Amino acid sequence: MSKRDYYEILGVSRNASPEEIKKAYRQKALMYHPDKNPGDDTAEAKFKEAAEAYEVLGNPEKRSKYDQFGHAGTGSGFGGGGYGGGMSMEDIFSQFGDIFGGAFGSGFGGFGTTGRQGGRQSARRVNKGSNLRIKVRLTLEDILKGAEKKIRVNKYVACKPCQGTGAKDGTAFRNCDTCKGSGQVTRVTNTFLGQMQTTSTCPNCGGEGQTIEDKCASCYGNGIVKDEEVITLNIPAGVQDGMQLSLSGKGNAAPRGGIPGDLIVVVEEVPHSKLIRDGMNLLYDHHISFPQAVLGTNVDIPTLEGKARIKIEAGTQPGKVLRLKGKGLPSVNAYGRGDLLVNINIWTPQQLSPEEKEILEQLKESENFKPRPKKTDKSFFERMKDVFN
Ligand SMILES: [Zn+2]
Ligand SMILES: [Zn+2]
Repeated sequence: MSKRDYYEILGVSRNASPEEIKKAYRQKALMYHPDKNPGDDTAEAKFKEAAEAYEVLGNPEKRSKYDQFGHAGTGSGFGGGGYGGGMSMEDIFSQFGDIFGGAFGSGFGGFGTTGRQGGRQSARRVNKGSNLRIKVRLTLEDILKGAEKKIRVNKYVACKPCQGTGAKDGTAFRNCDTCKGSGQVTRVTNTFLGQMQTTSTCPNCGGEGQTIEDKCASCYGNGIVKDEEVITLNIPAGVQDGMQLSLSGKGNAAPRGGIPGDLIVVVEEVPHSKLIRDGMNLLYDHHISFPQAVLGTNVDIPTLEGKARIKIEAGTQPGKVLRLKGKGLPSVNAYGRGDLLVNINIWTPQQLSPEEKEILEQLKESENFKPRPKKTDKSFFERMKDVFN
């Protein structure tokens, strides 16, 4: 198979400058481009022929060899197999970056890396605002009843002058010239393998499908500005430290009227001065005196709803746990309330008057004051394991 002369293919003289060669190739490439000649094998052959000619004449070193030795001088790549044997469509398109620059570069350049795609991707890209995270501090009293909290949040909000569109008053959006509003550019290319369809995000509008004729001066066309907003949070009863509540759409506004992000509220529990939380239950440690333990008494226990009076039976041992049913916390996911567990301790005096000491010396020998330990309580050791682990 004989090859045509490269200068003849591009239609330039043997003395043509590099600029003239480039310009000539650009014209041929556009004329025979597969997008313009779908299914036309002759055009495709001419397209490849022009690319091959430019590959040599566009390179001073290769051109010089070609001038001296003709086709034989252009190396193995083109020597053997005739047309199409050397350059793939991918090679040709990758060459386009130099020829057409940015205007065509991204569309053609995407070939090969984007690859073949079975179907169309979803249409226009819709902007999504970012999520915001804030902490809210809650007391156990807040958690018991549920709480309404007003908080100031610094966030992106829709720009007022342009109502979040990013377009200057009176000017409109219009469909992007490059993608005609679809947000994507699709190219069908004829290759040896058949038709290849390549879809990529429109470089002109970033996939939004629309462009603004005149940008809003307040937000520079973004449609969003930083502002402070007071948000009312309704915290349900029973939440726990570290829990996250998600308020859909209360996060940052999205550029140009997209979907706003979410507001993520992280619960931070303020420790109670007297009570300890254990899930739905509350724990309280109460000390009574030795005579109180012996004789019995009534004591006031703090709860989340004021004080509760409880009875200590005569003869109560230290370590006794009294349960105030329903005085604990609710759960976010369950009905009812937990309990308040009161651990009874007995205070051992550390200073005594001579009179007190004398009374106790007398009691020491009394049979009633001799310890009568009960069987070891396994639940005590279970509880201690939690304490020391
Ligand atoms: Zn604006
Ligand atoms: Zn576009």
